[in-house]
Amino acid sequence: MSDGTPTPAGPRRPERTCVGCRTVRPKRELLRVVLPAEGPAALDPTGKRNGRGAYLCRDRGTNCLTQARRRHALVRALRTTSDRIDWDSLAGDLDTVPQEVLTSPR
Ligand SMILES: [Zn+2]
Repeated sequence: MSDGTPTPAGPRRPERTCVGCRTVRPKRELLRVVLPAEGPAALDPTGKRNGRGAYLCRDRGTNCLTQARRRHALVRALRTTSDRIDWDSLAGDLDTVPQEVLTSPR
């Protein structure tokens, strides 16, 4: 018998690459950083704000942000310059983001 391949049916889950560690993960495990038309880049927990976006791992806090900053991955992904990004404020916001996606229901 050939059952027992638990392939989840349904629409393909969107995946994105973290600009810090470059891990490809389901979108809900990542956190969007948005660069609005004006003003500094900001976290976009809803993922719905207008602007160019990039993704960071939600559960690694500032680690991926630091990596993204070091290798200029975030500024490149957002097609901006480092001075448009308030790194301290982003890091602070990352620390306060709820970690609700750590356990995935089965
Ligand atoms: Zn990451």
